[in-house]
Amino acid sequence: MKTLILGGTREARDLADIASGERGFEIVSSLAGRVREPVLPVGDVRVGGFGGVDGLREWLVGNRIEAVVDATHPFAEGITANAAVAAASLGLPVLHVRRPGWHERDGDRWVRVPDLGAAAEALAGLGDHVFLTIGRQGVAAFADSGAWFLIRAIDPPEGALPKRHELLLARGPFSVAEEIALLRKRRIDVVVTKDSGGALTEAKLTAARELGIPVVMIDRPALPDGAVQVETVAAAWDWLRSR
Ligand code: NAP
Repeated sequence: MKTLILGGTREARDLADIASGERGFEIVSSLAGRVREPVLPVGDVRVGGFGGVDGLREWLVGNRIEAVVDATHPFAEGITANAAVAAASLGLPVLHVRRPGWHERDGDRWVRVPDLGAAAEALAGLGDHVFLTIGRQGVAAFADSGAWFLIRAIDPPEGALPKRHELLLARGPFSVAEEIALLRKRRIDVVVTKDSGGALTEAKLTAARELGIPVVMIDRPALPDGAVQVETVAAAWDWLRSR
């Protein structure tokens, strides 16, 4: 069973790890190539875009792929859509792995917004010192804001940046104690994040709760219509084995 795992996430690496060691499975993982020093999955890895739906179709045929697992980040909307269209046009089974999103708990002060533009608008009235932790993409949506931003990402963000900002290049996971210290030191009034879900980057939410700081939470884009979805690596592995 030759399977393409579209990755860039912990789930994709874990699935490649499990499936690569199993008889009867041949796995190729794919990364977009955005991060300078990516954490690589085990086994065969290819890096870089395919060239849209047509390029992906061609690659799937040329590499005799029999199943596609889209285990990309919940906000990687483009490749998810391309995978659904390309796989459907070839009659290939495709599974989307999406870890559960985060849920508000007692003490949280969240403002849920549908997208980056709405997140920038929601900042008015929430404070002048913003902790922007949305990754390196999408920061330009905040470029016109007059607020001061602490921008944390693994690699430098692309596009225009807000006039007043500090860039913090760092790769998680971060502990709650580290996050609390950071929020205090930079006198953060409000945190902006995507609803990525998962434990690895959750500490900032706990820190904000403990300090009573509001969080602007950007909702995930929807999966393509009719998408088959699971939430865990174990469920994805069950699906693969049942093919
Ligand atoms: P995107 O907007 O959905 O994709 C844009 C283009 O990048 C795709 O059309 C495709 O190019 C290429 N691409 C994306 N993921 C790819 C993959 N796994 N393998 C090969 N090509 C890929 O994606 P994105 O939001 O820029 O995310 C890029 C990668 O970073 C994804 O793999 C994702 O899992 C990871 N990531 C994203 C975020 C986030 O917040 N968006 C956070 C953490 C990790 P072609 O059209 O040329 O094929």
